[in-house]
Amino acid sequence: MAKPSVAVAEASGVPAQASCSCPCPGTTLFPYPPPRGASGIAAAAVRRKCLQAEVGGGACWGVESMRASSPTHARAAAALAGAGADEEEERAAWMARHPSALGKFERIVAASEGRRIVMFLDYDGTLSPIVDDPDAAFMSETMRMAVRSVAKHFPTAIVSGRCRDKVFGFVKLAELYYAGSHGMDIKGPAKASSSRHEKAKAKGVLFQPATASEFLPMIEAVHERLVETTRSIPGAKVENNRFCVSVHFRCVDEKMWGELWESVKGVLREYPRLRLTQGRMVLEVRPTIKWDKGKALEFLLESLGFAGCTNVLPVYIGDDRTDEDAFRALRRRGQGQGVGILVSKHPKETSASYSLQEPAEVHLYLSICSDPARVYVHISRPPPPLLSLSVVLCSRQLMRLLLRRRR
Ligand SMILES: [Mg+2]
Repeated sequence: MAKPSVAVAEASGVPAQASCSCPCPGTTLFPYPPPRGASGIAAAAVRRKCLQAEVGGGACWGVESMRASSPTHARAAAALAGAGADEEEERAAWMARHPSALGKFERIVAASEGRRIVMFLDYDGTLSPIVDDPDAAFMSETMRMAVRSVAKHFPTAIVSGRCRDKVFGFVKLAELYYAGSHGMDIKGPAKASSSRHEKAKAKGVLFQPATASEFLPMIEAVHERLVETTRSIPGAKVENNRFCVSVHFRCVDEKMWGELWESVKGVLREYPRLRLTQGRMVLEVRPTIKWDKGKALEFLLESLGFAGCTNVLPVYIGDDRTDEDAFRALRRRGQGQGVGILVSKHPKETSASYSLQEPAEVHLYLSICSDPARVYVHISRPPPPLLSLSVVLCSRQLMRLLLRRRR
């Protein structure tokens, strides 16, 4: 079990505060992993309350908030090694609530029968592994092939916090929709898909919030200020994502997180029209426009002609806190009207219905989705007489993964 963390002010190296305004009990504000059982549920409610107030918080719970959204391998391994019976029980309960999308694949197929699937994919941590250098978050060629294969059968969109051009540079598939900057910059396919789905002809920019362009000079200025103010923090990397600025801290020593939080907050105070949100190992400065990945999902469904339709099944796969907006959007559609899949090895509060542990499992899931034999269910055409070798390989991979999970 994870040891309770020490007082954050001491651990983070920021000046100790006389008291913390955060309502979390004791000094362990957001323990990772979360406390289990009934007390765990209560603590989770407190944690939610804390996170809702994140922009107003000081370094104390700012650091804890960063920890909560950014589990590290070391903490996760320590938690796993020290996991007691209660933790195992809670983990099993979490898996019961958010079962593996691979294990429940047949159930998802049954739910999608006679309906058009629309696939939404986050990029970092979903299609590519989380790596130290955000500029080196490349996806594998096999993952690219799986996404390409899915896009042949279903409208497919990449929804990312990165700017659209950058995420396109990683994915390199012109037949997809791209929603960059958390959905604030959406563009249709640059070339027609080979599938028969919606007239995915070349389209220009589909959407940018009306006031978004007003923010561009401000975002430029904030980017410069953040580069300047975080220069003294080793490992901090500031990325201009056009309609938002990302401050990556995956290479920053945890003792410096408090200082980084204060630096970002300090800059943000000068820009009341911008807000701070958090993702996995990243702080993000965004316009105060009411737009997020959930709105982008709804917009794309509408653009594809599925507004108010029940014969469509959106599937969203993502690993990040910002993906929760999309999972909630699916929940709002009603029971069985969407499939949210969280990519995570560890129990997390989520509005997703299913889980996958890592990008390798996402690859497998996408491969199976585009299995010609299964695609038959969705597009009503006869399956090929023989299953391809890749399908056989996928089945073997699936068996290996399921067996590994069972151990
Ligand atoms: Mg992600």
